[in-house]
Amino acid sequence: MTKNTFKITIVGGGPVGLFLGICLSKQGIDCAILEQRAEPVPDSRSLGIHPVSLELFRKTNIASKFLDAGIHIKKGLAHNGKRLLGSINFEQLERPYNFILACPQFETEKILREHFLALNPQGLITEALVTNIEENMDEAICYYQKDGKELSLSSTYVVGCDGKNSLVRQQSGIFYGGTKYPDTYIMGDFEDNTTIGDNAVVFLPKQGLIESFPLPNQMRRWVVKTDSLVEKPTAQLISEITLHRIDHDLKNLKNTMLSSFNVQYFEAECFFKNRVLLCGDAAHVVSPIGGQGMNLGWIGAWLLAKALSEINIYPEQETEFLLGFQNQQKNIVKKASRRAEWNMRIGRKQRFPIYRELFVRLLLNSPLNKVAAQKFAMKGLT
Ligand SMILES: Cc1cc2nc3c(=O)[nH]c(=O)nc-3n(C[C@H](O)[C@H](O)[C@H](O)COP(=O)(O)OP(=O)(O)OC[C@H]3O[C@@H](n4cnc5c(N)ncnc54)[C@H](O)[C@@H]3O)c2cc1C
Repeated sequence: MTKNTFKITIVGGGPVGLFLGICLSKQGIDCAILEQRAEPVPDSRSLGIHPVSLELFRKTNIASKFLDAGIHIKKGLAHNGKRLLGSINFEQLERPYNFILACPQFETEKILREHFLALNPQGLITEALVTNIEENMDEAICYYQKDGKELSLSSTYVVGCDGKNSLVRQQSGIFYGGTKYPDTYIMGDFEDNTTIGDNAVVFLPKQGLIESFPLPNQMRRWVVKTDSLVEKPTAQLISEITLHRIDHDLKNLKNTMLSSFNVQYFEAECFFKNRVLLCGDAAHVVSPIGGQGMNLGWIGAWLLAKALSEINIYPEQETEFLLGFQNQQKNIVKKASRRAEWNMRIGRKQRFPIYRELFVRLLLNSPLNKVAAQKFAMKGLT
């Protein structure tokens, strides 16, 4: 392995693979991204971008594009459905990123794609379906299909950024273990008919959690806890539940997205093996309640790019740098998953909701408010 042959192939051009490509290109490391889709995802799914990621975006000169594209959430309100229990003010966090940004995933991927292509115009190979990985002592070879042809790309390492069902991880035989939680949710984006403005709200009625987040273009995301997985969510069902639990009617509003999901915590036993490295959901999945998964992937991408640039200079210390990346990222993921579990527990149906209300009131109306703001904004993980 010498400096001028050092090359990375990234499988998956989702939010994490694209950001990894940006970090590597900024360090002058030759890389290519193989992505099966032609265009960024069409849906708004991942929304919350936390200060820790905005700080990484600042270091890679993309923060301003995100700041222009998203809504700056400065406050999170907690409501029991009838009364306000308290609020978290993110403005008490350190500047300049003393808010959580709400940016739809299609916009996020668009910004990351454009930025990666500006740094590395030939680097993104789209409509490329990776089918197989082969490794030897010095290189990894990615086989992929594009335009009806069987092609391959060889590099020093291949990084699986190909999501939670990662082919790269499966082919390298890395075990992915974890837990499925009993919690299930439905969510939808609706025209905003509230007076909540740019605030996020967590409603804690006794029948189960409802969350509401602002979106660009006068839209709002509604996330509703359900008793079991709803296979085919409808706008009508979300509207009936919000009406019943918190007396808020979403009927006949413009609706642009519907989805249902259950939640899990999964982690790969190791994030590197021979010539294969893992990042993003391919390496770890935490519950989306709290909106941390994509942000965790970006932290991992940043750490991995740092480790790879060190290996490029000191190849003899390869294992040490990769272990450093893995241990640091595993620690961060563990902490984040505990926070996500806590978020889910608070939102579950309660036998005695009065105790939950007392706890939330105490948390939000005491000096612990700042601690809560830090936890919800993913502070103190790194
Ligand atoms: C309902 C929901 C809401 C969420 N909200 C948030 C949030 O607000 N904030 C947050 O931080 N996280 C959130 N998450 C988590 C977030 O969606 C994921 O953590 C994030 O998408 C992971 O990014 P990734 O790039 O690792 O994987 P993915 O987004 O899964 O991207 C993988 C990419 O790899 C490509 N690919 C896969 N296989 C191949 C192959 N064989 N060949 C070529 N390409 C391939 C795919 O096309 C895709 O583009 C949410 C998750 C859910 C389910």
